Amino acid sequence: MRSGSLRWRLFGSYFALLVITLGVGAGVLLAALSARPEPAPIGYQRLVQGARTLLTDMNTRGLDRLTYSALQTHADSYDTRVLVVRWSSRVALFDSAGTIPADTGINLTIEPNYTPSTRTGPPQLADGVFGSLFDPDQTEWLFIGIRTGPVRDLALLLAEERSTRTLQDSLAEFSGSLAGPILQAALFGLGAAFVLAAIISGQLSKQLSALGSAAWGVARGDYSHKVAERGPSEVRAVAKAFNTMMQEVQSTQQAQRDFLANVSHDLKTPLTSIQGYAQAIIDNAIRDPVVAAEVIYSESARLSRMVSELTDLARLEGGRVALSLARVNVTELVGALMQRIEVVARQRQQTLTLEASGAHIVHADGDRLAQVITNLLSNAVKFTPEGGQIVVGLRPLDSGVELSVRDSGVGIAQDELVRVFERFYQVDKARGPQRGLGLGLAISREIVLAHGGRIHALSDGEGHGTTFTVWLPHHPPS
Ligand code: ATP
Ligand code: MG
Repeated sequence: MRSGSLRWRLFGSYFALLVITLGVGAGVLLAALSARPEPAPIGYQRLVQGARTLLTDMNTRGLDRLTYSALQTHADSYDTRVLVVRWSSRVALFDSAGTIPADTGINLTIEPNYTPSTRTGPPQLADGVFGSLFDPDQTEWLFIGIRTGPVRDLALLLAEERSTRTLQDSLAEFSGSLAGPILQAALFGLGAAFVLAAIISGQLSKQLSALGSAAWGVARGDYSHKVAERGPSEVRAVAKAFNTMMQEVQSTQQAQRDFLANVSHDLKTPLTSIQGYAQAIIDNAIRDPVVAAEVIYSESARLSRMVSELTDLARLEGGRVALSLARVNVTELVGALMQRIEVVARQRQQTLTLEASGAHIVHADGDRLAQVITNLLSNAVKFTPEGGQIVVGLRPLDSGVELSVRDSGVGIAQDELVRVFERFYQVDKARGPQRGLGLGLAISREIVLAHGGRIHALSDGEGHGTTFTVWLPHHPPS
């Protein structure tokens, strides 16, 4: 896999995308967590709740009734620690946790500035105090104290072990327990992405390599390798376009080969007869040299016509013919051309009729149009047996005019219908000495296309007549 290859680039971009996404996600998460302030200690809040309950008890029962055992029950039921302290001497009288023995000095730190109202709001304790105390083992406890008694020298402390956990501790614990699975998941994701990226980029590059080698094949004249049309829609479209192009190139090359073969064949036939008759004259082997001269004349005329029609066709195909567009009354033009051909039709006892109403106007090159119509009419006459019918129709269609030439002649087989527009193509080459060149329809098609029109041949098969239709727009596209 070369570093500049599409496969490598695709693979790299998939992978980079994944790494960037993971990195940005992790970065944003970390930034959000570290920017978050440490939450306020919740110890006091819970203690305030406990103190409220205790106060209610005190109010209802009176302090005297609030025995140590009642305090113990309170501590147990609220999962808290209750201490009774003589405030002036800071001596513990009772500790529900049993950690500080009775009549022992206790280390209290009062928080003078702590105003719980700014947090969740304290109970309405006239002599409420907040602070912390240390056990003999230096464990720190938060407490809320209710100073009471006649001289407010007795303090009931509700204490809760101060949480020393910081957010970082929590994060550390979180990462300690979850880092492993997260890392595993990330590695698995990376592995899966790696495999997927390799497969997707591999498929794409495989398709493109197939296209590349097929293109090289075409360059060498090998048309046998069609490209498989699979993969993403864009790649399928390219493969399809390539296959179509390959077919087109192949058929164009075939047409060129056919054309060369036809030209050489069609040139050879008259040349052979010219040579033969000329040689016979030279050898004095001809009794009537006029007959020989006539053959030579007609064959060379045929050659000359072939050369001029081929030149014309080449110029039309190369788009090198400038049409001199003018307003053409197709009805009149068709009428005039039919009159000319009628002489031949009458000799063959063919009926020639025109089905058209009104004038049909197009902007076209009148002479070129006459060339098309003449070829269609002469074909109809030529390929219809004596006594047959030829009907010419004109009708408006799709902002244009449709001309049809229908005959009851020899017809054309289905597979030949398209081929009759090819250069030199003649359904039956051996159709007698007045055979044409097989160029008329090829030229007609080029002329019609140059006008932005269409030409079609229809036939129900051999012996069932043929219809040629030509559609021309009123105004050819510029
Ligand atoms: P050219 O027109 O060059 O003198 P052509 O008439 O043989 O020669 P096209 O006009 O190109 O050539 O026609 C090509 C072939 O199509 C004809 O040789 C003939 O086999 C077939 N064809 C054309 N028109 C008809 C038709 N009306 N009925 C049956 N076959 C036809
Ligand atoms: Mg013809």
